[in-house]
Amino acid sequence: DVRVRFCPSPTGNPHVGLIRTALFNWAFARHHGGTLVFRIEDTDAARDTEESYEQLLDAMRWLGLDWDEGPTAFDAASGGSGGPHGPYRQSQRTEIYADVAARLQEGGFAYPCYCTAEELDARREAARKAGRPSGYDGKCRELTAEQIAAYEAEGRTHIVRFRMPDEPITFTDLVRGELTFSPENVTDYGIVRANGAPLYTLVNPVDDALMEITHVLRGEDLLSSTPRQIALYRALAELGVGAGTIPAFGHLPYVMGEGNKKLSKRDPQASLNLYRERGFLPQGLLNYLALLGWSIAEDRDIFSLDEMIAAFEISDVNANPARFDLKKCEAINATHLREMPPGDFISACEPWLHAPFAPWREESFDRAAFEELAPLAQTRLTVLSDITANVDFLFLDEPVEDEASWAKAMKPGAEDVLRTARTKLADADWKAEALKEAVLAAGEEHGLKLGKAQAPVRVAVTGRTVGLPLFESLEVLGRERTLARVDAALE
Ligand code: GLU
Repeated sequence: DVRVRFCPSPTGNPHVGLIRTALFNWAFARHHGGTLVFRIEDTDAARDTEESYEQLLDAMRWLGLDWDEGPTAFDAASGGSGGPHGPYRQSQRTEIYADVAARLQEGGFAYPCYCTAEELDARREAARKAGRPSGYDGKCRELTAEQIAAYEAEGRTHIVRFRMPDEPITFTDLVRGELTFSPENVTDYGIVRANGAPLYTLVNPVDDALMEITHVLRGEDLLSSTPRQIALYRALAELGVGAGTIPAFGHLPYVMGEGNKKLSKRDPQASLNLYRERGFLPQGLLNYLALLGWSIAEDRDIFSLDEMIAAFEISDVNANPARFDLKKCEAINATHLREMPPGDFISACEPWLHAPFAPWREESFDRAAFEELAPLAQTRLTVLSDITANVDFLFLDEPVEDEASWAKAMKPGAEDVLRTARTKLADADWKAEALKEAVLAAGEEHGLKLGKAQAPVRVAVTGRTVGLPLFESLEVLGRERTLARVDAALE
C-alpha cells in the first residue's frame, strides 16, 4: 500500500514550491490508489502560527488536493476528522517524541551532548582552517557517568545527539538514482533541544515511521537530511518503533526564479495567495506547477488533473532545476479558462462581479447583459480578475477614465471622426454588424481604416483603448447609453 505525506510547517503563507510538493505527492498517491497523509509540522512554537495552519487547509481545499488522513477531514462539511495514525499536528504529539528520544538514548543510538555553541563554533572553525570536515567531532560520544556528572555540576545543559554509523549510507533516490553519503560528511546531529523540545530531525522520521509512510517525495533542499533520516529509521526499526520498513525517497528538483536564483519563499511571485487573488483556476495553476519537474509527454503542456493522475510516474520526474515562468503559467491558465464549459466560466467569474472586487453598485449589475458578453470574455482572459475591467462599462454610470487611453485615442482629428460616427450610429439598426458598418463608413469619410476610426468610439464608451470586441459591446450597452457617452466625450 502506497502511503505518502505532505507535511508543511505552518509558517508564513503557502508558496508555489510547497504546492508543487503537495501536488506531486497527491498525484503519486492517486495514481497508485494510495493514501495521502496531511501532517502539520508545528514543533517550532516561535515561528508556527495558527493563521498559517488555517491557510494551509484552505489552500489545499481550494486547489482540490484532497487528503485521506489529516488534522481534519478534507471535506470540512462532513465533520469527520483525522485517521488511524493521529494526531496529525506534531504539537499534539510531544509525549510520543519524548518517549522515542528516551528509547534512542537507552538503546545507545543517541547521547547527551554538553558542548556549548561557542565551543562548537571554535572547533568547527579550527577544523575548517586545518582543511578537515567541519561537522560534529564526536566529543560527547562516549561520555562516562563521571564526566556527565561533572558537566551537570558545572550547570551545563545538554542537547540529545543522534549517533551516526561509521559506514557510508547508500540509497536509491527515485528521481536521482543511487546516492552515497560518506560518514565524514554526515556527522552526529541534534534531535532534541536543551529545553527538551524535539527537532525536525527527530519528529519528521519518527512520524514517517509511525504513520507507515512508504514514499517520501520532497524538495531537493532536504536531500542532505536523508542519510541522517535513514540512519534514524534503522535505529527505530531496531527499537520496534513503527512498521520497520524504510521509505523510498524522491527529491524533486529546485524551482528557479528570476536571475536563475532559487525561487525564494519571499519572492512575491511565489505566494499562492497572489494566484488566488488574481483569479487563477486551481486546475490551471496546478497544470503549470506539474510542469516544474514533470511532463506528460513531449510537446504537450495542457492536461487535466485526471490525466496527470493517470500518467504520473515518479521515475519521469526530472532531476534538473525547473524554471518558474510566470508568463507560461498565465498562458496555461488562459487555455484552461478558454476550454471550460461556458456555464462554469460564468460561475467562476462570480466573485469578481461583486464587491469588494467590482467597482459598480450591486444594483447596477445586469446578469443578462453580463452573460451576453461572457463568451467573448472567456476566450480573452488570462485570469478571472480581469473580467471586471472588461465589463465594467456595462455597469458603471460613467465609463472609467483612463488618461493614457484617452490621450492615445483622442488625437487631433479624432473628435471629427467621433462626431461623424455619432451621426451614423444614431441612424443604425442596433446590431453589432450594422454598428460596425456605421463606424466603418464614418472612418471612410475621414480617410481612416476601421481600427483608427473605432478607437475614439471605444474610449468614449468604455474609457479604455482595449477591451472586448467593440460592436458586440455597443449592442449590449444599448443605443441610448452609447450615444450619451459619445455626446459626453464630444462636449
Ligand atoms: N516540515 C518540513 C518542511 O516543510 C517537511 C520536510 C519533509 O518533507 O520532510 O520543510
